[in-house]
Amino acid sequence: MEELGAVRIYNDLVSKLDTYAKGLVKKYEGSMKCSRGGCTECCTVEEIYPVEAYAILAPVMQGKIDVSDLPEVEDREPGKCVFLKNSECSIYDARPIECRIMGYPGKLENEIRYCEKNFIEKPEFEDCDLIDSANVDASLESINMLFIEETEQGVFGEGKVSLENLLGSIKNLP
Ligand code: SF4
Repeated sequence: MEELGAVRIYNDLVSKLDTYAKGLVKKYEGSMKCSRGGCTECCTVEEIYPVEAYAILAPVMQGKIDVSDLPEVEDREPGKCVFLKNSECSIYDARPIECRIMGYPGKLENEIRYCEKNFIEKPEFEDCDLIDSANVDASLESINMLFIEETEQGVFGEGKVSLENLLGSIKNLP
């Protein structure tokens, strides 16, 4: 099946963010606590855009994610993301955009914000270290609009998708 344009652009965004994140971890080695199986403090995501849900469902359908490795909805830790299992993200490679940049340094209303667990020593950030999360959000919104258009709302509808419902549906796949 031909790849949807929205999915291609989404994958480009993921790859850009991953390159940025890898570079930052390398530059501030020793300070960054964000990594798989590291800190799970911001693993509290509840809802994602349909295009992000598709990016989780597609590898399941392609057999790249083994459904039996995913947690059970009823084992969810209160207040935590339903995909968290044994303090690790069970869909790490397919995780949504928010999970890829949370805790990284960004500028908001002229103030630099970041997770203090990451940078205890408060480094002097360079401009290239700062993520423009408003810009990332705007890009994701446009990619999602394109996804909705291309799929004629067929996959998850127009609204945000609950991760709990998504995991429930994946677990009930025939
Ligand atoms: S999808 Fe993964 S990284 Fe994102 S909040 Fe859930 S467990 Fe954490």
